[in-house]
Amino acid sequence: MYAFVLAVLYFTIVGLFAISMFCLSKWGGRLQTYLFFNCVSHLVYNCAYVLILHAKNQDTYVTALKIGYLGRVWVGLAMTLFVAELCGKHFPRIVKISAGVVNVVVYLFILNLEKTKLYYKQMEFVMNGDFPTLPHSGGLLYYFFTILNLFYAYACMHLIIAAFVREKNKTAKKRNLLVLIALTSMCLSYIIYFFKLIPLARIFDVMIIAYAICTAMMLISIIKYKMLDASSAAKNYAVDELSEGIVVVDADDHVSYCNNPALRMFPQLAENDPSYVKTHKLLDDFEFAILSGEPVKSNGRIYTPRSKQLLEDGVRVGTLYSLSDDSDHYRYMEELREQKRIADQANRAKSRFLANMSHEIRTPINAVLGFNEMIARECDKVASTGEPVSPAAKEALGNIGTYSENIGGAGNNLLSIINSILDLSKIEAGKMDLTEDAYLLKTLLKDITGMTRFRAEEKGLAFVTEVEETLPGTLYGDMVRIRQVLTNVLTNSVKYTDKGTVWLTVRAKETKPYQEGQMLTLSFTIRDTGIGIREEDMQRLFGSFERLEMKRNSTIEGTGLGLAISHQLVSMMGGTIEAQSEYGTGSTFTIHLPQKIVKCDPIGNFSAKAEKAEKNEPYHASFTAPDAKILAVDDTKLNLKLIKALLRDTELSIDTADGGREALSLCAQNAYDLILMDQRMPNMDGTETMKQIRVQEGGQNHETPVVCMTADAIIGSRERYLEEGFDDYLSKPIKAAELEQMLIKHMRDLCHIRG
Ligand code: ADP
Repeated sequence: MYAFVLAVLYFTIVGLFAISMFCLSKWGGRLQTYLFFNCVSHLVYNCAYVLILHAKNQDTYVTALKIGYLGRVWVGLAMTLFVAELCGKHFPRIVKISAGVVNVVVYLFILNLEKTKLYYKQMEFVMNGDFPTLPHSGGLLYYFFTILNLFYAYACMHLIIAAFVREKNKTAKKRNLLVLIALTSMCLSYIIYFFKLIPLARIFDVMIIAYAICTAMMLISIIKYKMLDASSAAKNYAVDELSEGIVVVDADDHVSYCNNPALRMFPQLAENDPSYVKTHKLLDDFEFAILSGEPVKSNGRIYTPRSKQLLEDGVRVGTLYSLSDDSDHYRYMEELREQKRIADQANRAKSRFLANMSHEIRTPINAVLGFNEMIARECDKVASTGEPVSPAAKEALGNIGTYSENIGGAGNNLLSIINSILDLSKIEAGKMDLTEDAYLLKTLLKDITGMTRFRAEEKGLAFVTEVEETLPGTLYGDMVRIRQVLTNVLTNSVKYTDKGTVWLTVRAKETKPYQEGQMLTLSFTIRDTGIGIREEDMQRLFGSFERLEMKRNSTIEGTGLGLAISHQLVSMMGGTIEAQSEYGTGSTFTIHLPQKIVKCDPIGNFSAKAEKAEKNEPYHASFTAPDAKILAVDDTKLNLKLIKALLRDTELSIDTADGGREALSLCAQNAYDLILMDQRMPNMDGTETMKQIRVQEGGQNHETPVVCMTADAIIGSRERYLEEGFDDYLSKPIKAAELEQMLIKHMRDLCHIRG
């Protein structure tokens, strides 16, 4: 028997030594550390037990026992730490340190067991056959140490059984089973040893056999199931190398794991006190941040936490928080916000400036163009009477007509520059809206060809139009914007062509038969024999404020906005605009625009009609309305005079008021069919006056349409005025034709329209 026990001991020692070496060779993770700690504590006890078995008296026995306890006091703790690590559980550092201190204290008492009698109350050396024994009765510390070891045994069993049950991986499950067998043998042998359940337990420490079983199991685990495989160490290493912080809490919200980056982000996690994190509300901060979408700040850095519930069989066993360092992102966002704020401020200032500039310039142009129109009408009138005038008067009249034309040309040019700038800022602010309606294709083409032919002939250029006769006559779209685009491109062709021809071809991409309600792609091709565009300039062609070949074109008027606006407008209408050019030979612009067909009646032979429409017809009012009475309100007396002059031939009865108060008093006395209201007026502005008219006590104009007249052609003006309660909106400078159309629209029953 003695020889058997010794053989077991030697086997265990060799085995433990091998495992220790193995641990050292695979050093790196906590699992290896704890296993090594475990082996060394067993090894010390086993080696000392060899000495015990050779003891011949009490002194040598006790001395060997004391050496053995140097290892044995650590066996329970080392085993528990190892099993916990194997099961993925971690004890807080404070618990480990406390357990270590207890062990050291116990060992100090064991070292002095003869004197203190706290561990062994009584002991006596007895040789039992070959076995030296030391029957004893336990002291207080002995029972405490026994209970502590039983607790460790319970903790280990609990952890390994739970891990065994939940483990899905087959290899890991088998490995856990081996550890479970080893632990069960340890626990059983401990109980047998403590209660001396078998006779052998009286002559030697039966735990020696359990240690041997344990060692064998560990060896199998390591060799067969790769317990110390580098992958777990690699996993730990990889998690520590992540740029993200990882914090794992258990079901009670106690931190059970955090990687190195998490510790660097939140050093308070290193305190490792399970309650610490709770008291410092770090987890609450994480949760709040996740719910509110706000980040968490620590040491001047900004982190975004995300959480994932850890479930086992549908039951929450903990939460994993991942923390990403988004400081740079937030700083960048902050800078962007600041830049945006500055840009918005500048943009608002620009809009304010444009609104004021537009108002300031449009108001005088209103008068200039309006009265210029009156000069032209007067000249026409005198010329058309046919009454004889002196040659000098005739010449003067002719000159006046020419000057008036020049004023009109320059004024309209100035107006179109302002309109271009306003259009571009509208488009840039995303406030440009399309106003779509049914329109006659003929009217659109008449407008643009009339104007182009006039300009082309002035320069001695030929203007040739070719319109597919079968094109549907009535389409649906924004005619005003299409006209703007075509006018821009046609004007350019005339501007940048010195001799030769400008062609306008209008076709449809689709072929007949057309159907009402269907879409049609109108294709406009504008070709010229002009100066052409250099290849390297082509990509700048549609950019804002881009004028090409400035030196060569310095005498040609332009802002470099026309094509930029045209390009944007065409895109808004769902179409395309393209340019092809040969430098020195000419350019071709092609515009495709999708439009809805309202009526399929073909447009017919357009060119011939255009020829006829060319003659410059003298002015005739488009309607007469002798029974209608309107009120015009404006603080600028000149404008009131102009309105009266422009509408003279319509036979309308027109009252005028130079402010809100006068307008109200007139509204109390008269019922008007329409009120034209200036917006910017001192004391009471147009909106205020309009609102008071609507609710005026004893007033006769509660329902009368009120049309707002303003020089504010800035972004969103029209929408704003309609929202405020005006019935319509007229932008200054007021054009006679537009004004007449507006009056017809709101007083159709009273107007006799001229054919
Ligand atoms: P601009 O008001 O200067 O005409 P646009 O935006 O309409 O501005 O045109 C931009 C530039 O493109 C012009 O300055 C001119 O150099 C060039 N360009 C436009 N159309 C033509 C054309 N038909 N022939 C030659 N050059 C053209």
